[in-house]
Amino acid sequence: MTRDVLNEIHKHSIYNETEVKNSKVCGCFYCNRIFNPSEIINYIPERNGEPTAWCPYCYTDAIIGDASGYEITDELLSEMADEFFARKVILALDELGQENKK
Ligand SMILES: [Zn+2]
Repeated sequence: MTRDVLNEIHKHSIYNETEVKNSKVCGCFYCNRIFNPSEIINYIPERNGEPTAWCPYCYTDAIIGDASGYEITDELLSEMADEFFARKVILALDELGQENKK
């Protein structure tokens, strides 16, 4: 998938209470679990008041529901994880490396 598509999907991971509740299945791209949206306990309002679903397993706001129009698959979740979490870790390690050079 292209980075544009992944960014597009990522937009569905915030302000997504209605969409997630309207989904048959949802997935978390942090812990890569696929589960029923009824398992979600926490919808936490963002600063603008719109609630975001939080994963009941890893407590991360990385939930995508299939009502977004995207099929929730293991492949999709791992691509999202690589794009939005693995890269952050690499960047953080890079920064640490820079710090150590000072
Ligand atoms: Zn999770």
